[in-house]
Amino acid sequence: MTRKRLTIPLNVRLNQALLRRLPPNHEKIPIIREDLMKRNAGYRGEKALDAQLRVIEAKGYTIFQGLRLEVDQQVFQIDTLIISCRFALILEVKNIAGTLIFDQRFKQLIRVLDNKEEGFLDPISQAQRHKFLLEELLKKIKLFNVPILFKVVISNPSTIIKSASYNVIDPSIVIHLNQLLINFHKIENSYSEEKITKKELNKIKKVILKNHSIIIPNKSIYKVEDDEIRSGVLCEKCSVKKMIRRKTYWYCPSCMHKSASSHISALSDYCLLINPNPRNEAIKDFLNIKSSKSTRLLLQSMNIPHEGDKRWRRYLLLDYFIKIWD
Ligand SMILES: [Zn+2]
Repeated sequence: MTRKRLTIPLNVRLNQALLRRLPPNHEKIPIIREDLMKRNAGYRGEKALDAQLRVIEAKGYTIFQGLRLEVDQQVFQIDTLIISCRFALILEVKNIAGTLIFDQRFKQLIRVLDNKEEGFLDPISQAQRHKFLLEELLKKIKLFNVPILFKVVISNPSTIIKSASYNVIDPSIVIHLNQLLINFHKIENSYSEEKITKKELNKIKKVILKNHSIIIPNKSIYKVEDDEIRSGVLCEKCSVKKMIRRKTYWYCPSCMHKSASSHISALSDYCLLINPNPRNEAIKDFLNIKSSKSTRLLLQSMNIPHEGDKRWRRYLLLDYFIKIWD
């Protein structure tokens, strides 16, 4: 594996599922929508790197995106990590509109938009922390030699980058996305000597992938209870009524839409919002299917992994969907 690709973040999926499943007038809808907008902006920002990363990957570099690592009980998330035998480069990606003022005295990022000021975590400090923790992780496997560099990449081309009046930020540290390849080329020239062997590089890749973990976001952050979640297979055409299970397909009594696969999105909603490893009975009730046998046949047809036997069998929905989403 030479690349761990970017996937839709699970908290984006959680928020989308909540918006589908909560009653439209639910009091938490505005905040869930706002969070979704922010998270989507972050995701789009990282997606914007795709073209440049393809060029870098074609040169033989290994690229990891969306890493969640842990060392000495400190968790850190790296947007993009590029590694080779000569150097490692951390990219901290920001998709923030407006004017960004990097204040290095107070370690803060100030965004000015429509005459309003808003504070953000300082991405330079964030990247420095990630560099430090990645070094710690590599020290554990006795690899001290790889120089670890970082850059803050501003992915929105119309964002204006400024320094606070009393400090000057290094223009090679905070860059616009269109400067990434030029900057990368400069790094390649400055770090042309191999510091580790191919074997050691493979060891690093293995350790990173083994250390990487996913965290399943929980709807409890919005204080939403299970009984507030609408059950049923929702019609993707009109989303007015719950669909009805006919022998081999789903049928919408409102718009008469038919589909053989509408239960898949209902199951992924159930997995994210209620229970990642449910039993047949719970799935049957949620999908509104008449018999346990039909439910079992439906789940079998999807090849959903399971554990336990007979009535104790649990369907491992999360394992199933993580593979699909990856
Ligand atoms: Zn419909």
